[in-house]
Amino acid sequence: MQPDMAARVDPLAVRLGPSICLLDDDGRCFLVDVSPDIKEQENRLLKLPVYAKRAARNPFDGVLLTHAHMGHYAGLVHFGREAANCDRLPVWCTEKMAGFLSANAPWDQLVSLKNIELKVMDSRTGMSAPLEPWPGLSIRPIPVPHRGEYTDTVGISINEKLLYVPDIDNWDAWPAAREEVGKHEVCLLDATFYSRDELPGRDLKEISHPFITDTVKKFGDLTDGRRIILTHFNHSNPVCDPGSREARSVQAAGFELAQEMMAIAL
Ligand SMILES: [Zn+2]
Ligand SMILES: [Zn+2]
Repeated sequence: MQPDMAARVDPLAVRLGPSICLLDDDGRCFLVDVSPDIKEQENRLLKLPVYAKRAARNPFDGVLLTHAHMGHYAGLVHFGREAANCDRLPVWCTEKMAGFLSANAPWDQLVSLKNIELKVMDSRTGMSAPLEPWPGLSIRPIPVPHRGEYTDTVGISINEKLLYVPDIDNWDAWPAAREEVGKHEVCLLDATFYSRDELPGRDLKEISHPFITDTVKKFGDLTDGRRIILTHFNHSNPVCDPGSREARSVQAAGFELAQEMMAIAL
């Protein structure tokens, strides 16, 4: 069975929207990207005692958004008055993203009702900023080339240890790609599609993601001494099936495949 069909009939084969959650031992919790699956993702977080014992008003202490494509920010609707009714939840994003959210319904209502409080990251200077209320957490936004109808796109560096680039057009369009991957201990990288063969009849110019076959070539020599974890799989991607030939060959090349609720210690 094709992996995209498997996800339609087997709930365990479903991959939820792309998102990572930074959680410390005291239950402080910072979310990177708010996917449309945020309700289910929060349910899963509640199974972790350190998250479940949080007494905070908001489900997260802060949120960062990489860009305005559906999978990365549309879950914000769950933070509004009809649902979680958050109180001034800090939302970090680029200036362009902040302008987009402030000027367009329904996101502008989250701003005007103070469910969220927008905090602009300066992605042009690539500054590294400690984030309130978590002084030990530092974020460096990294502009990356990616189809941008409404906003620009950033990858992020967390404490210069973890690099998260869930969406990028292709690695060659980002001159700093190898330098940034080489600087980090753990890299979570866009692996939406496996190869060109997966998309018969589609114009490749419309595909704003690298293929895993290209990613393996680009970073294969950097897997020694660091974890490169592939993520953001489309359900058509054969690596969704861990027993597939493609999944095994990617792992044999030194790469890891992200799993639901995968925990990474930093
Ligand atoms: Zn995108
Ligand atoms: Zn995406």
